[in-house]
Amino acid sequence: RQQGTNATTSFALAAVRRPHGPALVDERGTLTWQDLQDRSAALAAGLIEVTGGAVETVAILCRNHRGFVDALIGSSRLGASALLLNTGFSGPQLADVIEREGARVILYDEEFAGVVADARARVDGLVEVLGWTDSSVPTGVLSIDGLIEAHAGQVPPTPAQRGRVVLLTSGTTGTPKGARRSGGGADELAGMLERIPWRGEETVVVAAPMFHAWGFGQLVVAATMTCTVVTRRRFDPEATLALVDDNRASGLSVVPVMLERIMDLPAAILDRYSLRSLRFVSASGSRMRPQSVIAFMDRFGDLVHNSYNATEAGQISVAQPADLRHAPDTAGKAVRGTLLRVVDDAGRDVGTDVVGRILVRGASPFDGYTAGASKEFVDGYMVSGDVGRLDAEGRLYVVGRDDDMIVSGGENVYPIEVEKVLGAHPAVREVVVIGVDDEAFGQRLAAYVALSGAATPDELKGHVKSQLAGYKVPREVVVLDTLPRNASGKIMVRELPGAAS
Ligand code: ATP
Repeated sequence: RQQGTNATTSFALAAVRRPHGPALVDERGTLTWQDLQDRSAALAAGLIEVTGGAVETVAILCRNHRGFVDALIGSSRLGASALLLNTGFSGPQLADVIEREGARVILYDEEFAGVVADARARVDGLVEVLGWTDSSVPTGVLSIDGLIEAHAGQVPPTPAQRGRVVLLTSGTTGTPKGARRSGGGADELAGMLERIPWRGEETVVVAAPMFHAWGFGQLVVAATMTCTVVTRRRFDPEATLALVDDNRASGLSVVPVMLERIMDLPAAILDRYSLRSLRFVSASGSRMRPQSVIAFMDRFGDLVHNSYNATEAGQISVAQPADLRHAPDTAGKAVRGTLLRVVDDAGRDVGTDVVGRILVRGASPFDGYTAGASKEFVDGYMVSGDVGRLDAEGRLYVVGRDDDMIVSGGENVYPIEVEKVLGAHPAVREVVVIGVDDEAFGQRLAAYVALSGAATPDELKGHVKSQLAGYKVPREVVVLDTLPRNASGKIMVRELPGAAS
């Protein structure tokens, strides 16, 4: 998704309104809005020098820290597109995306040096600039801090074109796609502010990864509202609670698995934090475990907002705390400017509470992908690729992906139904159910669980059997220490042992 109009302008305007106000707090301290402008100008001047100035796309492979923001605004000041890369990419994936999007410069944290080596081997003359490093930068190696220091006070010429941001989809269903969208920034912001109670000039902890559409959006909203963003490179559940209390933050932005990991902490640890300053938690990116939502709200108050988003469509719907109290698995009602429909295979609207394909018409139109893929449309609505249902009040329930449905022995099974039953077992912490190829049945159900208590696979099968039809009982229950997830909390099905069979 390319976003040009608001992303970096928001930072520039914030520097005009509140130059000496705190903008970003990371492990290295606090930067003001003016600091961010000065740093990005110096970085852009440095990048012009080392590249000769003709850069169209700058790839950024950084965790949440000042270097990410420097790189984001700095590339915009060059008039270049900032390509935000997933920190979970493997070497070949990274090389594919860099090649496809035509990036010739990459700014990356030292911990990703191994992954960048693959891209270096494939892309001629790739200019590399080190972002975060725990050690000192070796002589002769370019770094974000080094370029900023060497070019302090310099201001790059105003570029002929405005810098854009290319956001990638998660690649849950294949190769990550670069999605383009036009305009819509103001509509989208209005939709969010109407549902999630952000206020200007407050402090927000952004734990969600900023390279992903959701975390990036939260960073931009914060800049638009001149809010102070507190962030850390790595997510740690207890440290996140401490950040909220220590900074008296009023907002916390997460991906759902972060909230789940917070609520998996022992009560004795949770007892140490009041989160009294907090007015909202905003989460998006995948389904959220209903038990964790309720446990969080029972302990810390009715603060959780669950937002259903897609890189291609932006914010689609938001469940407010009252919606989640009503039904903790809802993704809430469509936001202002966005239309939602649930249809059958023939494209006809289905009735209340009937599961079908989710169609979306967002506030900011989707203009296609940067390369390769295409998206299906029905009557001007985008086919989201998700299936779900709407209740009588217009609340959406996302049931799964279109292609999640498992056909086993001719019977259709939505994995979520089985996941819900297994997830309600007291010993189960995390669960995913998938279909694996089977000679006799076409597909058979396999469940992968991570446990928080004692239970055998047979007990868990018995638990499903006591509540669902026999064909919905997984033939295999595989116990893992933890389920493989990407940085936005999505379970990476292809990485489950035996899943590719
Ligand atoms: P790809 O298109 O490459 O397969 P992706 O669709 O996972 O990747 P994203 O745009 O990052 O890429 O994710 C959007 C998807 O995430 C949605 O279509 C939906 O499946 C899921 N999702 C996001 N928010 C929620 C939510 N609140 N509840 C349930 N699912 C959600």
